[in-house]
Amino acid sequence: MSDYLMKNYAPLPVTFTKGEAANLWDTEGKQYLDGLSGVAVCSLGHAHPEIATAIAKQAKQLIHTSNWYHIAQQEELAAELCQLSGMDNVFFSNSGAEANETAIKLARLYGHKKNIDEPAIIVMDGSFHGRTLATLSATGNRKVHAGFEPLVQGFVRAPYNDLEAIGTIAKNNQNVVAVLVEPIIGEGGVIIPDEDYLPGIRKLCDDNGWLMILDEIQTGMCRTGEWFAFQHANIIPDIMTLAKALGNGVPIGACLAKGDAAELFAPGNHGSTYGGNPLVCAAALAVINVMKSEKLEARSQALGKMILSQFENDLADNTAVVDIRGKGLMLAIELNRPCGELMQQALTQGLLLNVTAEKVVRLLPPLIISDNEATEITQKVTTLIKNFIQ
Ligand SMILES: *Cc1c(COP(=O)(O)O)cnc(C)c1O
Repeated sequence: MSDYLMKNYAPLPVTFTKGEAANLWDTEGKQYLDGLSGVAVCSLGHAHPEIATAIAKQAKQLIHTSNWYHIAQQEELAAELCQLSGMDNVFFSNSGAEANETAIKLARLYGHKKNIDEPAIIVMDGSFHGRTLATLSATGNRKVHAGFEPLVQGFVRAPYNDLEAIGTIAKNNQNVVAVLVEPIIGEGGVIIPDEDYLPGIRKLCDDNGWLMILDEIQTGMCRTGEWFAFQHANIIPDIMTLAKALGNGVPIGACLAKGDAAELFAPGNHGSTYGGNPLVCAAALAVINVMKSEKLEARSQALGKMILSQFENDLADNTAVVDIRGKGLMLAIELNRPCGELMQQALTQGLLLNVTAEKVVRLLPPLIISDNEATEITQKVTTLIKNFIQ
């Protein structure tokens, strides 16, 4: 491990040098199956030929000019994203946290326009929204806050999947201007809310004149079996943030807005030097192209169902398995005990997976995996869990 790197990560003892689709190879030439996609980023797998070609072609033509000039790729990408989602317009950033920062700034502007001097945003316990000061303050996890106080003000907390709690806040707090929520909690343990939760928040937002902000950074881009997770719920948010799979590995984030929220920014309100440059937008356009032509939202839905039923067959009667759940290819097996060691044990068996919220084995495989690879992942995970809890 390098002495020249800050100690904020604790990487496992492996270095990957090459990837192809759902496969990775380390410095020793050992092959691995990727059940994590770099945390829902490489949804098209590694070294995808169309993405690699788009990046190389754009790099040879023009990488960056700044947002002081028109950027054709950015305009085209914004139009594609709006068409797919039904949103009205887009701001491009370089990460998920920055996309959420944009959403938070929009909500505050919206509040000030309504003469609310100290606008507040309702955020959920167990949520994750990023590591910048505003987004870590919005995050519902004390471990993410610890040591970085004072937190940014203007967030009101509610338990996840609890519409009544939001209703109570609505009655007691006149400063609320928005609700920020993950359609499915990702880092916090793959928590899928009740079916009426997002429609209920939509209604509360409509009744109170609040903006509904969906953090789809992990759930967006076909991950859950629709292009965006809100499409399962037949609603549309006022603001949605994206990142992760949008660039398949090149750093890009996006904040999309609709209606009033789409009219808030004026020149000078917000910006980003790199945000939406020709290179990352060319990559994201290629990602959308592949996802569309391969109908990966449908593939994600079908594969997710297959994997879930395999897990239910193999693991449901195991007393240490508390729950098996997922939507599309966002999958989790919750155990009755901490299981962080499984990440290393899986690596030894040639598989990448993640353990989050201490007890939750999380799988986010590339959406392009074959049926056989999906079965290989479930078999490996089943064996690992059976051996772990013996
Ligand atoms: C990953 C993630 C973020 C943060 O994205 P970064 O690109 O790491 O800043 C925010 N929200 C959710 C739901 C995420 O999964």
